[in-house]
Amino acid sequence: MIRINDIIDKITGYFPEADLDIIDRAYIYSARVHDGQVRLSGEPYLSHPLEVAGILADMKLDVISVASGLLHDVIEDTHATPEEINAMFGDEITHIVSGVTKLSALPFSSSSQARQAESIRKMILAMADDIRVILIKLADRLHNMRTLKFHSEKKRRKIAQETIDIYAPIAARLGIYWIKEELEDTSFMYLQPEEFSKIVSHVNQDKKEGEKYIETVKSFIKKKMDEHNLKCEVLGRYKYFYSIYKKMASQNLEFEEVYDIIAFRIILDTIPQCYEALGLIHSLWKPVAKKFKDYIGVPKLNMYQSLHTTVIGPFGERIELQMRTHEMDKVAKSGIAAHWSYKEGRRFDEKMNKTFPWIQDLVEHQEDFGDPDEFLENVRIDLFSDEVYVFTPRGEIKSLPRGATPVDFAYLIHTEVGNQCTGAKVNGRIVPLQYELKTGDTVEIFTSKKGHPSKDWLNFVKTVKARSRIRQWIKIQEKERSISLGREMCEKAFRKYRLNFNTLLKSEEMDKAVENFGFKNIYDLIASVGYGKITPLQIIRKITPKPEEEKEHESLFNKIVGRVRKKRPSTGVVVKGVDDILIKFGKCCQPVPGDPITGYITRGYGVTVHRKRCVNALKMSPERQIDVEWNVDIKETYPVKIRVRSYDRVGMLADITSNISKNGANIVSANTETRGSKIVDSYFTIAVENTEHLKRVLSAIRKIKHIQEVKRIDA
Ligand code: MN
Repeated sequence: MIRINDIIDKITGYFPEADLDIIDRAYIYSARVHDGQVRLSGEPYLSHPLEVAGILADMKLDVISVASGLLHDVIEDTHATPEEINAMFGDEITHIVSGVTKLSALPFSSSSQARQAESIRKMILAMADDIRVILIKLADRLHNMRTLKFHSEKKRRKIAQETIDIYAPIAARLGIYWIKEELEDTSFMYLQPEEFSKIVSHVNQDKKEGEKYIETVKSFIKKKMDEHNLKCEVLGRYKYFYSIYKKMASQNLEFEEVYDIIAFRIILDTIPQCYEALGLIHSLWKPVAKKFKDYIGVPKLNMYQSLHTTVIGPFGERIELQMRTHEMDKVAKSGIAAHWSYKEGRRFDEKMNKTFPWIQDLVEHQEDFGDPDEFLENVRIDLFSDEVYVFTPRGEIKSLPRGATPVDFAYLIHTEVGNQCTGAKVNGRIVPLQYELKTGDTVEIFTSKKGHPSKDWLNFVKTVKARSRIRQWIKIQEKERSISLGREMCEKAFRKYRLNFNTLLKSEEMDKAVENFGFKNIYDLIASVGYGKITPLQIIRKITPKPEEEKEHESLFNKIVGRVRKKRPSTGVVVKGVDDILIKFGKCCQPVPGDPITGYITRGYGVTVHRKRCVNALKMSPERQIDVEWNVDIKETYPVKIRVRSYDRVGMLADITSNISKNGANIVSANTETRGSKIVDSYFTIAVENTEHLKRVLSAIRKIKHIQEVKRIDA
């Protein structure tokens, strides 16, 4: 078991001036809170954070990383709190340890893992806003894999599968190939024990032959390099087991048929020497076409640099070779981590930390970026990722745009879930529907058969799907309402003319009428009646050219409904969601801009606008109600009736009328009634622009001598 002194030796080995105080304190604290805890192996729990810290020191990371490694399990597994860690070790360590704890708490379910592996990897990378969180998580996983044998068979398989699906690819993206290889080999051993031991025994049987072969090839290379005075180090080694297995499986080969299970590496001092060595190798053995890769000229995004080539060797076999400098070899061993190390005695660099999200696309897309600007742009997009990753209650991962809400999530699951959504829980707590989802949240949606979308949702949803589904629902609702209203209106109107609307519905005449009005089908026609754009009478005229009762009907109608402002292009009222509709005002309550108003769809004559408090409006059926509002851009005057109660004196009427005119209002009509002795009620209908205007007129009248009361009244 590694001891704290070994770790301190490692750190001072690569960074002699390191401030070791924080390492000491982290060690003492970790030992105290983990005291009494035992691992499945029977070792004290402390051995685990020590090993993890040791791996981080092997990667030559800064003291903050190593200290965080010592503390990485204290929040999850002991009574320690983030507040306590913060007080003792500061913001940076608290942030990293909390980040590792959050990753551990993600509710990944093993059944869906392989399918969702890419989403999970992205999610892990998106959640770690400090690269060191990922490095610690990898070190943690590496040590857990080394001690996996103490778990049950079932648990071993689950953890091994997760490691090969999630963590090994992350290590590869970071360019830390030795961690990737060890994680894959260990997982392979637990997941396919038979295949694994077959390959191990093949390699062992092959060892004697193999070692002879390695020496032969090495001596050929050495000789050639010496002839040209190239100082170099030549290494030959077996590829790791899992890569041999993958090669056998993918190309359907037997072990004996896999020739290039041994790879060679030539390490030189300078870059020109690497190219020179490549030329010499190609003159020695015939290169395999298209197998040459120049990662020195075009480094991988994770900083990896080498020349790769494959040649036909001395026995007609394929040989894979890599040429690189010592410096490149160091980077290849620790990957991106090399850039956070103390190799030049520099402290952990903030700027470097900001460049880390390139890891997200490192390996896969590296060939796609030729241009450095384009590359930087892609790094930026990854850094400020526009996506959040959340879980369903069953542990499936869904990705949504940043700022998305539970409503967006509900529509993503299914349109019906969205349409019937009534509430949401995030991480077990009820949240408002406009809650902004965060990566790692588990989201649960409540639905009800009676639930339905609200127009307000359009103010906060972020996905196109949610937006279009909500709009669609509203449209269908409005159309359904218009159709049922239109049908009712038609039935009644047709009855008046002794016609049966429902019988005529499927008649040729009706088809013609539909075509004539320019509609696709009868429902669109009926809906437009409901909207008030077409009157049932217009339809009747199309079907029966001369209906007899027409005139009588119209006059009767006008008596009931009131003044129709047909001629005017705009009435100053907007019906929400409907353009081009006939508007008229209730005679009963005479709405004026500024009054709260409501609209009622009237039979065949568009929408009648009433004041909200109007008794007639209150009596009308709510399903005919439609939202309307004043259009403030329209300058127009509106009639309103007022009553002025005053003493009956000479000149009173003249005083009142002149005050009305002085305030810019026209008098439309006037009359007076005497009430008892000396009291007179004068009634005026005046034209005003809005309620403000009316108020001004009324208060001007109130100032006249001997006025008792002035008020607006219903017509
Ligand atoms: Mn751990």
